[in-house]
Amino acid sequence: MSHQNLALDVEAIRDEFPILQREFDDQQVVYLDNAATTQTPDPVVDAMSDYYRESNANVHRGIHHLSQEASEAYETAHDRVAEFIGASGGREEVIFTKNTTESENLIAYSWGLNELGPGDEVVLTEMEHHASLVTWQQIAKRTGASVEYIRVDENGRLDMDHARELITDDTAIVSAVHVSNTLGTINPVSELTELAHTHDALSFIDGAQAVPNQPVDVEEIGADFYAFSGHKMAGPTGIGVLYGKKELLEAMEPYLYGGGMIRKVTFEDSTWGELPWKFEPGTPPIAEAVGLHAAVDWLEEIGMDRIRDHEQELARYAYEQLEDEGDVEIYGPEPGEDRGGLVSFNVEGVHAHDLTSILNDHTVAIRAGDHCTQPLHDKLGVAASARASFYVYNTREEVDKLVAALDDARQLFA
Ligand code: PMP
Repeated sequence: MSHQNLALDVEAIRDEFPILQREFDDQQVVYLDNAATTQTPDPVVDAMSDYYRESNANVHRGIHHLSQEASEAYETAHDRVAEFIGASGGREEVIFTKNTTESENLIAYSWGLNELGPGDEVVLTEMEHHASLVTWQQIAKRTGASVEYIRVDENGRLDMDHARELITDDTAIVSAVHVSNTLGTINPVSELTELAHTHDALSFIDGAQAVPNQPVDVEEIGADFYAFSGHKMAGPTGIGVLYGKKELLEAMEPYLYGGGMIRKVTFEDSTWGELPWKFEPGTPPIAEAVGLHAAVDWLEEIGMDRIRDHEQELARYAYEQLEDEGDVEIYGPEPGEDRGGLVSFNVEGVHAHDLTSILNDHTVAIRAGDHCTQPLHDKLGVAASARASFYVYNTREEVDKLVAALDDARQLFA
């Protein structure tokens, strides 16, 4: 179906997601857990199913027709993703991984372990996801580098004065989340990248919550490395992306070894193949790459700016409804340009897990926990929060159902 040039037709979009019609206890599911994973539209499922039905084979090594078709599909998916995120180097700058976490680890091991040493500083933010925080912490321990955190202010924004203090000539890399999966803050990642570059440091941007929800151009940002996951952008699980500037990737050692990534192997030594294959040893996620390609087509057909606007408007609506309740504490900035499509909150006197369980009785699916940002929750002074996160198929009525269900939780627990 074509979405172009129409006002966002959420009903038509929803028709492409049979899962959204599911009912539990005669109530239709209200899926507001999109920051964890998004649902997959029919065209993406169909693309993967067609691939398995018609073109399945292993890639790179085959001369036969099916392998050629699979290889073509797999390689083209890299080109499509490169185009989608504005990587002018094309497929050589797009490495397929398992997810954002693996993309973070790839850079931490391939670059960090080889380049960092005592006296070097890794600058993170206090709102980093564990995928980056834990990874850099461990690499710092092994290399003798230190880790510093840019403060989050009382409004849930990065304290950029503090960033300017922390990022110095000792900084080796600045690793920052583009959109916080807990606070919803859209961070000034171009500015952070520029600060890093002023001090000859690199920048790594975790775009797991950005690429699915807003237009992203990695070259406009200037990022050296940029990571995201297929499953949060209407694509399949099992595939993630690491973008890297070609000259940096060329200079880097791989950290996973095996078949498919080599140029020449002897009993004594091996040399590496071309980008991006150098970083993709073994049989890669082929069907998932086909699915990711279809997801990118699907998202672009709707338009990333329309997706952003829709989600921001839902988040604003949710924020305002929750704020009106009086006993709800909401985390992160007020709705505005620098807040994405999710709202984390707590209801006074009700544990986030209890709240989420009561909402589940109404078939409203949200998430409770620390959202892989434990140090940030410590700073907020809570062990857990409830998080509602929106995608292109969500509606105001679904937000209303969320807010209405809070009353039950109050009656039972508060
Ligand atoms: N970073 C952020 C900001 C995220 O929200 C997530 C997923 N919650 C990740 C990294 C990790 O993504 P994945 O589990 O797909 O590796």
